[in-house]
Amino acid sequence: MNYQSTRNDACTASSAEAILQGLAPDGGLYSVRTLALLDFDWQETLKKDTFGMAVDVLTALLPDFSREEMTALVSAAYSGKFESDELTPSVALGDDTVLELFRGPTSAFKDVALSMLPRLITAAREKCGVSDEILILTATSGDTGKAAMEGFHDVDGTKIIVFYPHGGVSAVQQAQMCTQEGANVCVAAVEGNFDDAQSGVKKIFAAVSEGDLLAGKGVRLSSANSINIGRLAPQVVYYFRAYADLLARNVIKLGEKVDFSVPTGNFGDILAGWFAKEMGLPVGRLICASNANDVLTEFINTGRYDRRREFHKTISPSMDILVSSNLERLLFLMSGDAALVKQLMGELAESGCYEIPEGLFERLSREFWAGCCSDTATKGAIRQIWSEFHYLADTHTAVAWNVAQQYKAFTGSQSPVVILSTASPYKFPAAVLEALGEEAEGDEFAIMEQLHSITGVPVPKNLQGLKEKPVRHSTVLAKDDMLSFVLGKAGEKVW
Ligand SMILES: *Cc1c(COP(=O)(O)O)cnc(C)c1O
Repeated sequence: MNYQSTRNDACTASSAEAILQGLAPDGGLYSVRTLALLDFDWQETLKKDTFGMAVDVLTALLPDFSREEMTALVSAAYSGKFESDELTPSVALGDDTVLELFRGPTSAFKDVALSMLPRLITAAREKCGVSDEILILTATSGDTGKAAMEGFHDVDGTKIIVFYPHGGVSAVQQAQMCTQEGANVCVAAVEGNFDDAQSGVKKIFAAVSEGDLLAGKGVRLSSANSINIGRLAPQVVYYFRAYADLLARNVIKLGEKVDFSVPTGNFGDILAGWFAKEMGLPVGRLICASNANDVLTEFINTGRYDRRREFHKTISPSMDILVSSNLERLLFLMSGDAALVKQLMGELAESGCYEIPEGLFERLSREFWAGCCSDTATKGAIRQIWSEFHYLADTHTAVAWNVAQQYKAFTGSQSPVVILSTASPYKFPAAVLEALGEEAEGDEFAIMEQLHSITGVPVPKNLQGLKEKPVRHSTVLAKDDMLSFVLGKAGEKVW
């Protein structure tokens, strides 16, 4: 029982149970008590290839799985699915390094975790003696839905339903989702915005659990959101991959500290970096990069989290978020105080803000640095990176690059910085093209072509020919019909 709720020491679970449940029953997130005591040798891990690193990191964090089992799961999750078995290659960019996390099946960094999660869930289901089929429900603003379906399609014992806001995702994202193949996947548009889709999913979970609505159907619900420890753990691996690449390129010597700049939304990606650090990797500062939604910038600079602010729609939409769920895990691991976390999360729910104690704030400021970047500065960064280095960055990556330059100018740090690149520029082609000073013409598919002909940067395979692929999913639902839709689907043996 090495997992517990971030809000209650008495609410414990094994790693397999934590993966199967997702969220702890008291609303907290499942976490280990401390990362420093894991059975893990970071120097040995750095010598391995990416699959070997993944086996080491995942068995240390999820000790219910043997090395043998994990080796098979890692291979099933990743073999042949990414552009190379390195999974996440590094590219030099002047004095900095870009870590490309988007070379997976849907060109989003979420592929790294969502390729692995279905394997962990099915293995956890067996370990816990659960014979029910697992039905995954996910609301998406665009990227998560496709990456989740790609990860779950045709994985035995699972089915997945994705809800996206009708008219609220890009044409490319909609085409990616609605052409998804697989006998166990289903996509539906919901009339409303992302919050409607997300609160609809939460209501389904609550209604099903209160009324025991799936009793006797041989189905139980689960979620693929980033609160699941099974989604966080696979992300720790690429920090080791990046560090090993810097060693191989002689940019650093073993033991030298490296800073990482991370475009941050729900705080999962950057938290994985802190996990790597606690597990021994020589990480200096973790740089938390935000767009105009600067709630985390303020928090890391002042110790005060205040969600009561205007929500900005930006050109880096995956970071348009005011409540970063995974921050709760950091607060728990840094303070070791579940009662404190419970109190702070209660204040956040009731009044929309909280302030952390002085000692905790000092530790936070030592390990993290934060900055934000406007849409105008993001476009400026894309233009500058292209003209200076001939590298095409997406809008999220550009935010992280800009904030990394702010960090170096402000602190005078000479340490190497790794910039995490979370999406292909072809997922946000209009903004990227405009940043290069060109006028976008036609639909998004035409703009992709335009961007390709101007830059010569190859379009990822999964995005080529998307327009011609047959549409397999076209359901549109009123938000009040989501529950009955799910119950109907849960009753159908074959979709
Ligand atoms: C999800 C996402 C992020 C934010 O990652 P978190 O783990 O939520 O902080 C950043 N960039 C892109 C492109 C994403 O899809």
